[in-house]
Amino acid sequence: MNFNTVVMVKQVPDTSNISGEVMKPDGTVNRAKLPTIFNPDDKVALELALQVRDRFGGKVTAVTMGPPKAAELLRDCLYMGADDVCLITDRKFGGADTLATSYILSETIQKLGPFDLVFAGRQAIDGDTAQVGPQTAEKLGLPQITYAEEVIDLKEDKIVVKRRIDGGYEILESSLPVLITVLQEAATPRPFKATRLMALKNARTRLELEKMPETAAKPLDELISDYKNKGLYIQTLSREDLGVDLERCGIQGSPTKVHKVESVVLTGEEHKQFPATREGIGELLDSLIEEHFFG
Ligand SMILES: Cc1cc2nc3c(=O)[nH]c(=O)nc-3n(C[C@H](O)[C@H](O)[C@H](O)COP(=O)(O)OP(=O)(O)OC[C@H]3O[C@@H](n4cnc5c(N)ncnc54)[C@H](O)[C@@H]3O)c2cc1C
Repeated sequence: MNFNTVVMVKQVPDTSNISGEVMKPDGTVNRAKLPTIFNPDDKVALELALQVRDRFGGKVTAVTMGPPKAAELLRDCLYMGADDVCLITDRKFGGADTLATSYILSETIQKLGPFDLVFAGRQAIDGDTAQVGPQTAEKLGLPQITYAEEVIDLKEDKIVVKRRIDGGYEILESSLPVLITVLQEAATPRPFKATRLMALKNARTRLELEKMPETAAKPLDELISDYKNKGLYIQTLSREDLGVDLERCGIQGSPTKVHKVESVVLTGEEHKQFPATREGIGELLDSLIEEHFFG
């Protein structure tokens, strides 16, 4: 069998560096100011997709919506073993919340598909909402399995997955196509293959090719077809290519506005000690209720 699989991957700011200075006045993160990394859950989602391909056959495509610099992330996906990659980038997509992000991703998956399997990470370490996977499944009208730990079996018309639940796990069976969000513990990402790195390090997007000196001597379209022939072209989709509704894109299409992001540093002097006695626990509960932690 040949299963056509797409993996949604995100380049994220290395959140161990986030502070007020990197926020723009409109409440969005100034991504250009931060070192970026491969969202950890997504690297595992890609690994699981590659393992499914290696076990059951097929093709793996990695897609990302982000600034032009997210092409680096897609090269990493190629080095890991992705068969194809696609960058979705447009200034009009900037500042998107999860609603707008999942809209663009679902439109892209429909354009590049059809796919049998859609993988995503459980969560991105910057927005931390874990919303994009389930929202994209809804927009594509697909069944979804979240918190996946293992793909147990895959047949022409169904998949069997082990997913984490509170206090244990459950084994789920779903028809195809299906969207699966993956836990970081599900697999250990394979290292970049040196042979693939050497062969694919010159893979470029249209935007990167536009900036290359070669364009002085050769029309861009010719350069793109050269790169396509060499298997070094990173497909790049813009708003026009997708034909999406601007009202549903970027800041315009995002009901959620992030007003402020700050690093919360918990310091010792804020804590209160309670004796491990019946009275002490009583006092602790009273103070938690007082501070509206519950009750
Ligand atoms: C500090 C902070 C707080 C935020 N709070 C909110 C909020 O409360 N509500 C809100 O709607 N938005 C919020 N955002 C914006 C949100 O980060 C973006 O909408 C983002 O594109 C998707 O949300 P997420 O980062 O929570 O991803 P998640 O929903 O956690 O991502 C889950 C998975 O979806 C896939 N995915 C997510 N984004 C992309 C992408 N761009 N390309 C490809 N795959 C992707 C990945 O597989 C990822 O593992 C916040 C952003 C920041 C920086």
